[in-house]
Amino acid sequence: MLKVPAYNSKKEAFHHANSQCGLGLRIAPHNRVSGTSNKPLCKNCKKLNDQEAVPRGLS
Ligand SMILES: [Zn+2]
Repeated sequence: MLKVPAYNSKKEAFHHANSQCGLGLRIAPHNRVSGTSNKPLCKNCKKLNDQEAVPRGLS
């Protein structure tokens, strides 16, 4: 899992910041925008980033 620079889709109300986020990966290139656009972090990315922050085996 890798954190990546924030990006978002013109069509979504949240931004992504993880290379493993399936929702983020589905964004079409022409809809993808760099930065957060002041949108909240996507739930899936938040979960992935939280997992990354916690040592394996602990939850
Ligand atoms: Zn995401």
